[in-house]
Amino acid sequence: MSKSTKITEVRATALSVPASFDYCGRRNEHELGICIVEITTEAGHVGVGMTAITEESVVACAINEIAAPALVGQDALNIERIWDKLYWLMTPRGQSGYAMHAIAAVDLALWDIKGQALGLPVWRLLGGARPKVQTYATIGFDFFDREQLAEVATAWKARGFSKFKMVVGHNGLKRRDEPRPLMDVMREDIKRVAILREAAGEDAELFVDANCNLDLYHATWLARRIEAFDISFFEEPLVANDVHGLRELRGKTRIPLAGGQNEGQIQKFRDFLLHGSLDVLQPNVAITGGITLCRKIAAMAEGFGVNIDNGGAWPFHNMHLHAGLRNGGMIEYHIFSVECLSKIFNDLPVPHAGWLELPNTPGLGFTLNREALNEFAVRPS
Ligand SMILES: [Mg+2]
Repeated sequence: MSKSTKITEVRATALSVPASFDYCGRRNEHELGICIVEITTEAGHVGVGMTAITEESVVACAINEIAAPALVGQDALNIERIWDKLYWLMTPRGQSGYAMHAIAAVDLALWDIKGQALGLPVWRLLGGARPKVQTYATIGFDFFDREQLAEVATAWKARGFSKFKMVVGHNGLKRRDEPRPLMDVMREDIKRVAILREAAGEDAELFVDANCNLDLYHATWLARRIEAFDISFFEEPLVANDVHGLRELRGKTRIPLAGGQNEGQIQKFRDFLLHGSLDVLQPNVAITGGITLCRKIAAMAEGFGVNIDNGGAWPFHNMHLHAGLRNGGMIEYHIFSVECLSKIFNDLPVPHAGWLELPNTPGLGFTLNREALNEFAVRPS
């Protein structure tokens, strides 16, 4: 074993990071949970990985209590070996969920170390397909009212973005018993899609995302009514990314379907492909088993002639996958997550006219702001 890349320490920290947005003279304030993992080697490399869209304290605990003891003493460059070890340790019966989030965060830190140790940025280790990647801006959150939605679209269009995504069916089935009738939510969605189209202009590309909140009937109802606004994909329309339901929905709407950002096992992506469930696969390196698993999913997609794009945010980690691989696609510039990431990382690239240029510095190309890590750390109560 190369002594210099021997893992000496693994530490995960749960964070709650605030973000605020000012539009139409009104301020919207929110917080986002993120789990950061730092892996140190004997030579002093520090790889930093992350995961999110889950319970960050639970994942940090899983990494510190279960993964860390198995990682210390391993060679950080043997990523496939470590991934296999963590698979059998944490998801031995193909479970997804918290454990796969933990594996993804660890995997990103290991790729960061690999780049630092070999003196290359991660996107070039993966194949160096392109030095910059195109983004789409996710701006249409439920916490913006109609007026703010139009203003945020206009503002980001002025920054050179021409592709925009908005949420639809927000918490649809989850809150139906409040009562909060789903049809009311979707009638409002139709009006908001029209507002976004008007503000973004007829040449803009629009995407919608239901975050797995609808059933087949309601997703079909909504898809058919927003087709007129020329939607380029409908992301995660159905509960649990149901493989068969998605295939059926694909036959009922002209809007292409996308999904997979929160899936953890490669077999689900195989099933999406075999059943013709999706037009776009969206494995996310911060959730779907890290770069190690996502590049295998990308290879499967290439074999089926299905595109891949980033969904589920975390653009600065996912840009390496999409710049590295021949069939890489668009990156989600999710303005909420970017606002949070910019508080905890230094040297993040800034998009120009909607394009992100990849760094040439070794590893992931950005560093942790340790003061911020301390400031936003969630302390056990
Ligand atoms: Mg999404």
